[in-house]
Amino acid sequence: MLRLSIPSIDESVIEAVNAVLRSGQLVYGVQGQRFEAVLQEFLGVRHAILVSSGTAALHLALVALGIGAGDAVLIPDFTFPATGNVVRLVGANPVFVDVNPSTYCVTPESVAAAIDAWRGPQKLRAFIPVHEFGHPADMEALLPLVRYHGLKVVEDAACALGATERGKACGTHGDIGCWSLHPRKTLTTGEGGILSTDDDALAAKLRLLRNHGMVRQPQGIRFDEPGYNLRLTDIQSAMGLAQFPRLPHWINQRRVLSADYRKALTPMVSAGLMTLPANHLGHSWQTFMIVLSGEIDRATLIDKLAKGGVEANLGAQCLSMQPAFKDVRPVPLTTHASQLFKHGLALPFCESYGPQQVAQVANLLETLLLTPGTCRPT
Ligand SMILES: *Cc1c(COP(=O)(O)O)cnc(C)c1O
Repeated sequence: MLRLSIPSIDESVIEAVNAVLRSGQLVYGVQGQRFEAVLQEFLGVRHAILVSSGTAALHLALVALGIGAGDAVLIPDFTFPATGNVVRLVGANPVFVDVNPSTYCVTPESVAAAIDAWRGPQKLRAFIPVHEFGHPADMEALLPLVRYHGLKVVEDAACALGATERGKACGTHGDIGCWSLHPRKTLTTGEGGILSTDDDALAAKLRLLRNHGMVRQPQGIRFDEPGYNLRLTDIQSAMGLAQFPRLPHWINQRRVLSADYRKALTPMVSAGLMTLPANHLGHSWQTFMIVLSGEIDRATLIDKLAKGGVEANLGAQCLSMQPAFKDVRPVPLTTHASQLFKHGLALPFCESYGPQQVAQVANLLETLLLTPGTCRPT
């Protein structure tokens, strides 16, 4: 079976993990500090703070910014549910924003429309743009708009480590950036997350909340406020550090693969069977999601692809269609988000795949989609 993606774990990573296991220093320590220093340099930020997952990063970001009961937070209606869950977990309310049908990200127009339509009673306090699948959200246009309304900005760059917009790393435009190191993302530590900020006070707060509210002093430790334990282990940091030098190469491979897919799928696009994701020079291509035409039965197609040895899946969720958010109605309606949820199809995609895998997927898709009656009405 051609898997949706496979993490790149070579012997050097396994050796690095073994060395930590032998050292006896397992929780956050020297490896974590080194990994944070490397990330600060790569992202061009004053502070990179490792946590246990991308969701933990988003959650801590909202807590550190004081977002809670009585507040509302703008988020895209097409994303991984963690973006919305954390809003709910701090006691705030999500306000859903529609996305562009080919970048899959929110736009200045859709954000402005959601702000204009917002009637409360909660106060709009923050905005979480998602760099969906690694496509940079248009921060240059979005920032002035949301700053005008006094909103804090937490970027969900969970999929976008290595993505850039005009040379600046995605996730470093707002108040706090959040990344995930889950195995479905390009660089993985099994589970893991990264926070970034240029604000020293905010960084201190995030570090405090990550580690029991604990402060180390020459006289001993002190507990300043109730905190969480959301630390990354040194076992995980060693994994991240060992893989890190290869990240730029991997992103490059992914960009090449996306171009190969684009070429191979063009005949099916011309035949009106699908549309392709928007290209962007700074895209990190965590996922390659096509959008099937409405007449294609996606469930049947996924099933037939699997029988033909190709794993495919839906790309992301429309949050307002999930039971967890059934009480939140998007105004205006988030038409594109629901269409992408219903018709999106993520194809096998990772840095170790090449032209051979692309041909396998494209040929099988063509056979299934061009045979009348297989996945669409005759
Ligand atoms: C993966 C992902 C998350 C969650 O990251 P975890 O590390 O799995 O907790 C959040 N938001 C988006 C957009 C994601 O793709």
